[in-house]
Amino acid sequence: MNSAEIRQKFFDFFASKQHQVVPSAPLVVKDDPTLMFINSGMAPFKDYFLGNKPAPYKRIADTQKCLRVSGKHNDLEEVGYDTYHHTMFEMLGNWSFGDYFKKEALHWAWELLTEVYQLPKDRLYVSVFQGDEKDNLEKDQEAYDIWKTMISEDRILFGSKKDNFWEMGDTGPCGPCSEIHIDLRTEEEIAQVPGKELVNNDHPQVVEIWNNVFMEFNRLADGSLVKLPAQHVDTGMGFERLCMAIQKKRSNYDTDVFQPMIQFIAGEAGVKYGENEKTDIAIRVMADHIRAIAFAITDGQLPSNNKAGYVIRRILRRSVRYGFTFLDFKKPFLYKLAEVLSDQMAHVFPELKQQLSFVQRVIEEEENAFLRTLDNGLKRLDTLEERFKENNNTIDGKTAFELYDTFGFPLDLTALIAREKGLRVDEAGFGVEMEQQKNRSRNASATEQSDWVVLQPDVSTDFVGYDRDEAESYVVRYRQV
Ligand code: ATP
Ligand code: MG
Ligand code: MG
Ligand code: MG
Repeated sequence: MNSAEIRQKFFDFFASKQHQVVPSAPLVVKDDPTLMFINSGMAPFKDYFLGNKPAPYKRIADTQKCLRVSGKHNDLEEVGYDTYHHTMFEMLGNWSFGDYFKKEALHWAWELLTEVYQLPKDRLYVSVFQGDEKDNLEKDQEAYDIWKTMISEDRILFGSKKDNFWEMGDTGPCGPCSEIHIDLRTEEEIAQVPGKELVNNDHPQVVEIWNNVFMEFNRLADGSLVKLPAQHVDTGMGFERLCMAIQKKRSNYDTDVFQPMIQFIAGEAGVKYGENEKTDIAIRVMADHIRAIAFAITDGQLPSNNKAGYVIRRILRRSVRYGFTFLDFKKPFLYKLAEVLSDQMAHVFPELKQQLSFVQRVIEEEENAFLRTLDNGLKRLDTLEERFKENNNTIDGKTAFELYDTFGFPLDLTALIAREKGLRVDEAGFGVEMEQQKNRSRNASATEQSDWVVLQPDVSTDFVGYDRDEAESYVVRYRQV
């Protein structure tokens, strides 16, 4: 089954259970102070859970574009190193807004996985909430008893708040959850260590695929829990992981979701994927990051030097540096990948094709700008390496700031390079330097706008570079043509 069929079967299955299939909400969040990017399927529906707005349908199914690179759910450091955490991924979900609850949700989840997708029952584990004293919550016996009718009890595990109580952020709707994990190892590997011991243990082939959340509470800013006006179901299944399981692969990157990009990158770099761990990681990072970048731009978030825009610029620079150092991409390359992505996914997300030339232009200019300083920054780091070693294996705050300010190295990029060299970064020292610079430039006058406009996707424009805006932000500037 290819990934398009897998996605479609999900929609068809829940449509047959009276769910309305709706398109993904945009990745970019503009009106929520607690969230920059959609990080889960439930985030766009927050108001329905809270009872602030009535849901348009009692039952919904969808695939939601998610980005986990900031805030409570941040997987950026894992990406490329492991084979199942992405920056941007699709979360398949089915929803009940005050309609069905645990029994239907868990039975349908089991039916879909084992009958429609034919995943082997003896490779699945489920987990339920064990309760929590601090929040005064009971263990989820109800979910346990439902599972017991479908799966043998030695495959039902109790889990703590960390894994089995789902919260979108520090505040907001939340509730106990029940997860489904799959063991994709070989029989020989299983004979050595039982799968049960590896669930939730960061094993690359014993992975969580689906989370069924029973939304019942709202976490308030003071940390307390209050009951929501109604009980809801919110489920989230990692689409790329599901494809790995169904296609019997050992990595998400080996599925047809990622292979076109992996092959394109490897081909352009003149290397083979799967032969060298260093180049493999770089290839995976690029195949992953292009998705975050392209989807963010099409949904209205341009790379910039502050807030959400800086998150995207950081991801972009991170992948440029991986390509530069490990795959010898000395010229802009990432922008070419946007087309491979669009060819592959525009049938589900047409915005990728509609805005393709715009996305390419933004990425290419970003690449050009960073490639102008990247090499010198890396050389600077190399020159000072001995000094860092003598300095307790630490890159001092001043140098980290110089890399940021002069060479455009985001702090996390410097930290990443430091980690590869067995060094660490004095982040507090960096903060002090940053603060001093802000004070210096606080008096600087605001930039003139004259005939410059911030680019709208449908306006024909010419990229002309970056401008420093007020204290700390760089604004991408375009001329209308
Ligand atoms: P994990 O424990 O693997 O980090 P999670 O518990 O943080 O996953 P949930 O918040 O429960 O994930 O999200 C629901 C589903 O989304 C998960 O079961 C998983 O299949 C998928 N998922 C979560 N994070 C990622 C990611 N970074 N990349 C790809 N899929 C993900
Ligand atoms: Mg996680
Ligand atoms: Mg988990
Ligand atoms: Mg989970």
